[in-house]
Amino acid sequence: MTDLPIRDELRGVEPYGAPQLDVPVCLNVNENPYPPSAELADDAGKAVAHAVSRLNRYPDREALALRSGLAGYLGAEAGVRLVPEQVWAANGSNEVMVQIMQAFGGPGRTALSFAPTYSMYPEYARNTFTAWISAPRRDDFTIDADDALAAAAEHEPSVIFLASPNNPTGTAVSLDLVRALHDASSAVVVVDEAYAEFRRAGTPSALSLLDSHPRLIVTRTMSKAFAFAGARLGYVAASTAVIDTLRIVRLPYHLSSVTQAVARVALAHAPELQRRVEQLRTTRDELAAWLRTQGLRVPESDANFVLFGTFADRHAVWQSLLDRGVLIRETGPDGWLRVSVGTPDETEAFTVALREVLKT
Ligand code: PMP
Repeated sequence: MTDLPIRDELRGVEPYGAPQLDVPVCLNVNENPYPPSAELADDAGKAVAHAVSRLNRYPDREALALRSGLAGYLGAEAGVRLVPEQVWAANGSNEVMVQIMQAFGGPGRTALSFAPTYSMYPEYARNTFTAWISAPRRDDFTIDADDALAAAAEHEPSVIFLASPNNPTGTAVSLDLVRALHDASSAVVVVDEAYAEFRRAGTPSALSLLDSHPRLIVTRTMSKAFAFAGARLGYVAASTAVIDTLRIVRLPYHLSSVTQAVARVALAHAPELQRRVEQLRTTRDELAAWLRTQGLRVPESDANFVLFGTFADRHAVWQSLLDRGVLIRETGPDGWLRVSVGTPDETEAFTVALREVLKT
């Protein structure tokens, strides 16, 4: 390894990723615990067979049928009107965000976000030779608007990342802050709405600001609400000018015909998936309430996970839960742990295990 002409900043670095362990209750990477229905699987099987019969050809490079379906879905979900040319898709929202950094970050440029937040953002910055600035959140994990504007004025970022709801805290960002950062800077403001479908009633999506904010970019994913993490489909809504810029940096034929086909099937099944989202929201609220009855701190969550704490030795708690067959995530600020919302049975298994651990 040492003889390789590896970039200095990659030397000795471990690849990102949570442990993938075979345990009875897996609540560590914010997956949707409900697998796709038999009907969806059946329709996807047919769509894959059709796509495979044409695999000698490259996929639709512009993924227009898929982008049109995604525009329709977002329109219905958030009550906005989008044309397909305002939507772009790639292999997970991770790839979408790397494309954003390739287009708007780069050497001599800076990206800004507010910690604690999604730990991949600094990696996108490193990989695209973009300087990375992490400004702090308040103790309750909300972002102070004055501090945020001061950080934007001081560092003059070309990209600002706002995860809403934020991972790992579950905290939503106010649209006032999105507007203020957009209007006070010359950055593209990326609102990462990977978990947006789980937001509580009355929390609007930043999609509603797209019309009046040309440098706003809203990213979404099928990995969470659509229960399609294995399919790898992330997408973005923005002005056509932003989308046309992303089209410059994408690799040719980046989104396989198979991925495009199964994603379109998932869109056709969106209403049934929405019912699962409702169930997960209810379980999340019950879980947060139960954790509070145990004397734990739990920030308000608009996502399909909750952060809870604090523990003098969080690793010991994480390990004791794992010893009882429940895998959660040791992430976020010291002392905190994050648990994804599972089925009612999985959530019950977690609460039983945690109750035992808290007694010891
Ligand atoms: N954004 C946030 C805030 C996330 O938590 C995740 C995944 N955990 C992603 C983006 C990436 O999701 P994907 O690449 O599966 O679309």
